[in-house]
Amino acid sequence: MIDLHLHTTASDGFYSPSELVQRANKAKIRTISVTDHDTMAGVSDAIAASAAYGITVVPGVEITAVWQGLDIHLLGYFLDEAPVVFQQFLATSRQARRERIQTIVERLDRLGVHISADSILRQQSDPLGSLGRPHVARALIEAGHVKTIREAFDRWLAAGQPAFVPRQNPSPRSVIKMVAAAGGVVSLAHPGLLKSPHECLLSLVADGLGAIEVFHSRHNPATQRKFLDQARTFDLAVTGGSDFHGHKDGRSVRLGRFGLPRDHFSILQERLVLARKVATR
Ligand SMILES: [Zn+2]
Ligand SMILES: [Zn+2]
Repeated sequence: MIDLHLHTTASDGFYSPSELVQRANKAKIRTISVTDHDTMAGVSDAIAASAAYGITVVPGVEITAVWQGLDIHLLGYFLDEAPVVFQQFLATSRQARRERIQTIVERLDRLGVHISADSILRQQSDPLGSLGRPHVARALIEAGHVKTIREAFDRWLAAGQPAFVPRQNPSPRSVIKMVAAAGGVVSLAHPGLLKSPHECLLSLVADGLGAIEVFHSRHNPATQRKFLDQARTFDLAVTGGSDFHGHKDGRSVRLGRFGLPRDHFSILQERLVLARKVATR
């Protein structure tokens, strides 16, 4: 089993990289990618922990970009030797996340919903880790304002709700360029969760998108078939993974049930080799 979409405590996952690797091993997953939101802070620990099990780790990241005012998630893979400029790019995104969360907390405050910024910051002890709305949701639960993460999003945090703060950047094009320059490849994450996936895909293909996440825990078989078709149409490689965050967040996904078939993984690797050859020409 190959699972190229996993989260750890470096972003909004519940398990540390080494705990995640242990669980992946139990679930008989042999190749993983740790794809935390706007950070690669969990990758080196995952690589260290995986050695004992003979598990292969593809260095990855899940970057949030803004397309036509909407958040989209772009998975960057094979970032083995991500250059300093790429790490700085991620650091800028994490700083923007912190500022956005500060604005959300202020907005909640004005709405009479009080949570301390500290109860959010406390959840992320890794200075290179990233914060997101799920951390705000957990603080809302802790303060007794809501019972579940879902409720926090539905009442306050989701787009269109009173404490929603839109993101400003970056553009998909800049993300695709940055990842390519770092020797990696970009896959559009969970397109089945997008409002207008076809339009988005057209635009991203024009920007140089390399792959699409066809296999995902929230894609049903029909959605899978549709995006497999689109991958062929646009000549994209195919990626897949569970998007596992842990078992405590109400959107529990079982490890070892969702992943990328090996033949697709081979194609992804072949394309990467080709792209790198072209880049160094
Ligand atoms: Zn995502
Ligand atoms: Zn994810």
